[in-house]
Amino acid sequence: MSNLQNSGAAAPLSPVLNQNPLIVAKFGGTSVADFPAMSRCADIVLADPSIKLIVVSASSGVTNLLVDITKAADVAGRVSHYAGVERITYNVLQQLQQQHLVGAAIEQLLLELKTLLNAERAFTDAEKDLVLSFGERLSSVLFAQVLAERGAAVSSFDVRRVMRTDSRFGKGEPQIDVIATLTAQYLLPLLNQQLIVTQGFIGADAKGQTTTLGRGGSDYSAAILGEAVGARVVQIWTDVVGIFTTDPRLTSDARCIAEISFDEAAEMATFGAKVLHPATLIPAMRQNIPVFVGSSREPDAGGTWISKQVDTKPSYRAIALRKAQTLITVKSPAMLHAAGFLARVFDILSRHQISVDLVTTSEISVALTLDDAPGSAFSNSIEPALAELKAFSEVTVEQDLSLIAVIGNHLHSTRGVTGSLFQALEKINMRLICHGASRHNLCFLVQDQEAATVVKELHQALF
Ligand code: ADP
Ligand code: ASP
Ligand code: MG
Repeated sequence: MSNLQNSGAAAPLSPVLNQNPLIVAKFGGTSVADFPAMSRCADIVLADPSIKLIVVSASSGVTNLLVDITKAADVAGRVSHYAGVERITYNVLQQLQQQHLVGAAIEQLLLELKTLLNAERAFTDAEKDLVLSFGERLSSVLFAQVLAERGAAVSSFDVRRVMRTDSRFGKGEPQIDVIATLTAQYLLPLLNQQLIVTQGFIGADAKGQTTTLGRGGSDYSAAILGEAVGARVVQIWTDVVGIFTTDPRLTSDARCIAEISFDEAAEMATFGAKVLHPATLIPAMRQNIPVFVGSSREPDAGGTWISKQVDTKPSYRAIALRKAQTLITVKSPAMLHAAGFLARVFDILSRHQISVDLVTTSEISVALTLDDAPGSAFSNSIEPALAELKAFSEVTVEQDLSLIAVIGNHLHSTRGVTGSLFQALEKINMRLICHGASRHNLCFLVQDQEAATVVKELHQALF
């Protein structure tokens, strides 16, 4: 086991679940933001011979610029955002000792991207994903060269050869069985000979069209590939020294959690802890692969182990926050004593592919929350769904709400849980609360503008 995994007082040893020593290491955007950051990641990789597959995000800021390109009103707007991508890319390229070895590949990628900008019309969804793919395609080539210059035998690998998804652009659904077959065929044999650097976030559908897994999707890519190669551990290297009791940007009281169960960490990711993409733990849980989260800036500062078995299961583990939620209340007096009201409401939402988070009901009304993130189902398909609901009910829509989730263990059956919560929140207008369905969370809604303060106060009260 590597010194990095063992380092730091907080991180316990990983449970060794099988004999395959292979580790998948994923480096996020800030970790590969520039040449010095990439060099720190190279230190981490080279210190641990078990790390064989490396998954990188786009350099920090690049995906945002690419998103801006897809949204720009005209070619001139696209070109101005493209200039930012070029600047970040050249900044790394120019610090390489042997630029000429990757210069042509980088120029080729930039040219391909520049050519796309010239279309005198709005991008199709497929083109948007193609544009977004350049961030990871550029950073993976650059990072492979950083490793090569440190003496590693390394190649970059186009993940689209194995990361098969459906054709839902912007939110491609990975097809696990196909990915396993393609990985065994094209990727696994390479791992015996050299380090492989590949791209997070992107994939390809059956026709070879580029897709993306949704913002922040590189964590998910790493876990999917970890599953496909039968990794012993998946490491997520980021800009915080692990998973904290709440987002450390919200309060300086937040503490790093040394170990946490899959269930608890999955709840945190689902309810907004940005440190992990919400789907990351699904493959890890399926194959029982422990996930380590640590800081590429401070690899020796400990970190968080996420695994099936943990020694401690506190009632309160963490608080997560998801902003920009929408609450929809559907009320239908005509449904008093009539059966099928909820079924009808959920049938409409499901036909429009709208996923619901929290639900509270009374006999003739139901209140539910939807994730209102840009590009989410909400922005695309809520209007037609609302029109259908309005045909038989009164519908009210409230926006600018935040979903706060208290995550822990046995919350549904622990004496005093709601008491301490209400005490901590006595001055707050709680718009809706959900408690009891999951033993791992208790969720409620507050106004967006109050949310940060609520998390801070609640954190102080509970931890
Ligand atoms: P990367 O680019 O490495 O994927 P992200 O920005 O996606 O990094 O995720 C790391 C960020 O997640 C941190 O900087 C932190 O602000 C945020 N975050 C939110 N909740 C938590 C939490 N509970 N613990 C740690 N970080 C959190
Ligand atoms: N580069 C992508 C994003 O910024 C994916 C990731 O970083 O995980 O969303
Ligand atoms: Mg991320």
